[in-house]
Amino acid sequence: MSDSDQKQRRISTLLHKKEILLDALKNKVDHWQNNRIKMHVKSLSPACRSCYRGSSIDININHICSRKCFYCPVPVLHNWKPYVALEGVKVDKIENLVDLLRKFNIKVVSFSGGDPLLTFDLLEKYIRAIRQEFHSSIYTMVYTNADLLTEKRAQFFGEIGLDEIRINLSGRNFDMMPLKLAKKYIKRVTISSPVVPEEKEKMIDAFKEIDELGIDHINLIELMAAEYNLKNLKERKYIMKNNTAILDSEVTFYEILHHALKKKTKTPIHFCTADYKAKSSRQTRNLRYSRYAQGANESITPIGKIRQIFRRIETGRKVVIPAKKFSVNTDEQIYLQYYNTYVKEVPKTHKGKKIEINKDFYLATQKKPSKKMVLQGTLMLLLFQLLFIENKPVGEIVSHILIKYRHLVQDEKDLFENLITFYNQFDDEEYFGEPQLFSKQN
Ligand code: SF4
Repeated sequence: MSDSDQKQRRISTLLHKKEILLDALKNKVDHWQNNRIKMHVKSLSPACRSCYRGSSIDININHICSRKCFYCPVPVLHNWKPYVALEGVKVDKIENLVDLLRKFNIKVVSFSGGDPLLTFDLLEKYIRAIRQEFHSSIYTMVYTNADLLTEKRAQFFGEIGLDEIRINLSGRNFDMMPLKLAKKYIKRVTISSPVVPEEKEKMIDAFKEIDELGIDHINLIELMAAEYNLKNLKERKYIMKNNTAILDSEVTFYEILHHALKKKTKTPIHFCTADYKAKSSRQTRNLRYSRYAQGANESITPIGKIRQIFRRIETGRKVVIPAKKFSVNTDEQIYLQYYNTYVKEVPKTHKGKKIEINKDFYLATQKKPSKKMVLQGTLMLLLFQLLFIENKPVGEIVSHILIKYRHLVQDEKDLFENLITFYNQFDDEEYFGEPQLFSKQN
């Protein structure tokens, strides 16, 4: 059998398994979220609850690690000079970080790396500064492989009031000792591990002890491909769903969850998917910075994307239409462009638009197009206006079109189908989060 036939066979087997498992889990998992792209059983950690609201920030306290996990998506190189970064922006001065947290009203700060415990002095300095400036109004969290979690350090975390520690159980080959130590001192202890298909049995076997230890949450992360782990993932012949997520990892999660529910595991379990991670990190960044990057007559969608609606005049020139002035002109062609917003540090003398964080720390915004669309035809234009500009409820849209524009559709079913297709075209641009109108799989 050729390589490609073997691959096809593996894909069919995995998809079939996924269907069976999802069917078995159907009535047992009630917390599907964000248009059914992630799920959890029982409670979610406060940090996970706030992750897509724009008020949480992840700080890479360094870029070094004591491990070399094959799935690691970040460039952790040994002997790298540690530097503190936030979404690619270096924040080497504590006062700059403090002012930035204040400016954007940040409520959750997570420290990761590499492994933040490798530069413990630096980590300690940043946590102390946050506690001193914001007391308990900012939720703090540390992600670590726990190689360097000593009793003294766990005690420090407890005393300073660290809200949560996340330990990668897979990084230390399912060694439970660091969890026991963390539980002695730290308010909330979460297992945060990737779902590695080859480690399925170890994870299943660990549930009993996890329950006994009283671990607060199990956060299982779908394996995702990135520049730095792609070669390793390919060597294992995993199946990629869409250039990033790994199907083998997703199916393994459903198997693990199935076992956990059968064994009546008490610890809450959350599955953080690659799709969700990518969307939520874009959303938080956009919600924070888009209003500073917004151009004249552009609008911002509920998930923070900059929306540009425009028509082209004879010369081909763009004329941007403010969302509030958009109205349906039946034979018109309307163009849409959506943008993500990025920031970078710039000097005070920077000429373009900038966000002043304090007297010597400035960020400049950049916009990158994420989607271009052309809308044509009365029904499409109407749906765009009613759904995304006027945010009308579905019932109202249906009756409005059936009464005033009856000739555009055959019947109510036809209209409803058009509505769903149209709505789903804007996935990731106009909405993300709890489904507002439809669930994709309904
Ligand atoms: S422990 Fe975490 S940061 Fe370190 S190599 Fe593994 S996945 Fe990467």
